[in-house]
Amino acid sequence: MDFSFSEEHQLLRETVRRFSETELAPLVREADDNETFPRELFPKWGEMGLIAARYPEKDGGGGFDKIADCIIREETSRVCQAFASSLSAHSHLGIWPIWRIGTEAQKEQYLKPAMAGQKVSCFGLSEPDGGSNIRALKTHAKKVDGGYIINGSKLYITNAPMADFMLLAARTSPELSADSISLFIVDLPSKNVVIEKLAKESIKASETGLIFIEDLFVPDEALLGGREGTYPVILESLTENRVGVSANCLGMAKAAFDEATRYADERIISGRPIGKFQAIGHKLANMAAEIEAAQWMVYHGAWQVDQETLSNASAAKIKLVASEMAVSVSEDAIRILGGAGIMRDYSVGRIHRDTLLYIIGEGTSEIQRNIIARSLGF
Ligand SMILES: Cc1cc2nc3c(=O)[nH]c(=O)nc-3n(C[C@H](O)[C@H](O)[C@H](O)COP(=O)(O)OP(=O)(O)OC[C@H]3O[C@@H](n4cnc5c(N)ncnc54)[C@H](O)[C@@H]3O)c2cc1C
Repeated sequence: MDFSFSEEHQLLRETVRRFSETELAPLVREADDNETFPRELFPKWGEMGLIAARYPEKDGGGGFDKIADCIIREETSRVCQAFASSLSAHSHLGIWPIWRIGTEAQKEQYLKPAMAGQKVSCFGLSEPDGGSNIRALKTHAKKVDGGYIINGSKLYITNAPMADFMLLAARTSPELSADSISLFIVDLPSKNVVIEKLAKESIKASETGLIFIEDLFVPDEALLGGREGTYPVILESLTENRVGVSANCLGMAKAAFDEATRYADERIISGRPIGKFQAIGHKLANMAAEIEAAQWMVYHGAWQVDQETLSNASAAKIKLVASEMAVSVSEDAIRILGGAGIMRDYSVGRIHRDTLLYIIGEGTSEIQRNIIARSLGF
């Protein structure tokens, strides 16, 4: 067993940290206030190889591993989760299935430019009526001559308002079985796809859409991998991404912890730094311990992805622990800062509202517990 990061991983962390602090940090406040994502970040991330880092070199990727992907996520989330969420929806949800089963033509047309950050993707799975029960999705694709006609709606889709294409999950036959769900690549914008940008209280600078699809014709070539019944690929993608978003949670928690530690040292009350009060010192101690526990889980999970041994239940445990940890650590950070904790001059308030995303997105904590309980035979 080797528990240390390689030199390559450490260098990557330093590079992403420097980039995030110099290129992302100055954009955060304005993007959060205006609820607008600075689109120019995608080509910059592409140029640095951060979008494609975890994909094999033979497929146009950086040839790094999942550990590297988690480092990129952690360091990006440390500065801004909204930016990191848009990156994650693109670098994983929107393109991983294309890399996994896409045809050569689909890889050429969508994966390549997406890896370079020249095209932005989104992943349309969740629906207004289905929510957590993704298998019940109603959007359907009817086979016609030369292609499919798609009708339906999608809710809370990250990047949708600015995406160049959507990887869309639709029912290709009416049964409620997993075989009846397939993936399509849909070019955007389209007159048959209406996208409303939603106003949010969390990750405000990541653009989120409500989508209505009416009589949209897509050619046969838009069917991902040229075959129907690709629901298992969606599940595989979501399982891996639970480890990925847990790294995002780790980044947010570390940023909140750092700000709380600094403040506890600098803020003097009754003649001493507040960190010297046992109540505050113990809070910081708990935060440090919880972060470290989650960190081991996240990077062990990343290692399991690389070994192809990650189980659905392990991914659910990692996401449950990391996402709940980020919420509680960032709340404690606000408590430590007192009034300053809810002032916009500090970042813990924004971080806390951003942490709420991952107790919901990518499957709520209740759904993670259902997965874990099922693995225990209940
Ligand atoms: C900002 C944001 C970005 C998102 N981005 C994307 C995206 O890019 N692509 C995409 O496809 N989706 C995306 N989602 C959707 C996300 O995955 C869903 O919000 C999530 O799966 C929960 O669905 P829901 O919000 O409809 O909640 P619901 O399913 O309505 O759940 C409401 C409550 O009921 C509980 N509940 C539901 N079912 C059960 C059950 N069986 N057992 C116990 N409790 C249950 C839930 O845990 C929750 O507490 C995003 C969501 C958000 C908020």
